[in-house]
Amino acid sequence: PIPVITIDGPTASGKGTVAQKVAQHLGFHYLDSGALYRLTALSVMRRNTPLDDEHALAKAAEHLHCHFNGAHIFLANEDVTNDIRAEEVGNMASKIAAIATVRQALYGLQLSFRQHPGLVADGRDMGTVIFPHAGLKVFLTASVAARAERRYKQLIDKGFSANMEDLSKDLTERDARDSSRSSAPLKAAQGAYLLDTSAMTADQAVEQVLSWYAA
Ligand code: C5P
Repeated sequence: PIPVITIDGPTASGKGTVAQKVAQHLGFHYLDSGALYRLTALSVMRRNTPLDDEHALAKAAEHLHCHFNGAHIFLANEDVTNDIRAEEVGNMASKIAAIATVRQALYGLQLSFRQHPGLVADGRDMGTVIFPHAGLKVFLTASVAARAERRYKQLIDKGFSANMEDLSKDLTERDARDSSRSSAPLKAAQGAYLLDTSAMTADQAVEQVLSWYAA
């Protein structure tokens, strides 16, 4: 069987950084499942698809024309690596992610990332829904303050403007939406190891995950 490590947690908990570093260390593939929701969001935002047209939203997810090349993410043939990180795209992603048919449409695509020699998958439901039989499941948490600060740095680095107050509000709203939705709500998977990264560097978190994996 192909080994899978799932790393789930709320927005800006550090999942992405930790998952990528763990994948790199083990020579495994990496799935950024949030990017698939962001790509779907960007694609429907560009087409002005109304949020209440569930059929069109699910179709957009099902026919998502994307590919990953190293750190670069493409929609059709356009490099949208930065565009999908915009806060309004994340907010739209979180809204369409509440729709069960959108989630179903992205299911097969996510499974297809499981290839030799292994996979590290990060998201909200990697351990609960997509890879429930993963050999190692991790649930990352961090305080709202720590996460707002991380998100702030990420956005500024990418050339977006940001302010802490709006970000904290966004994070709290998105947490509430992701945790309370009926379809694959954000929660720790059964058997997941909990890791609070508020006071940890990314490398410390990576070491902890690797030592759980080795155990
Ligand atoms: O992780 P990221 O912030 O990029 O994800 C964007 C949004 O996509 C999240 O707020 C969440 O609502 C949704 N998502 C999800 N399930 C996943 C990954 C992301 O519902 N596995």
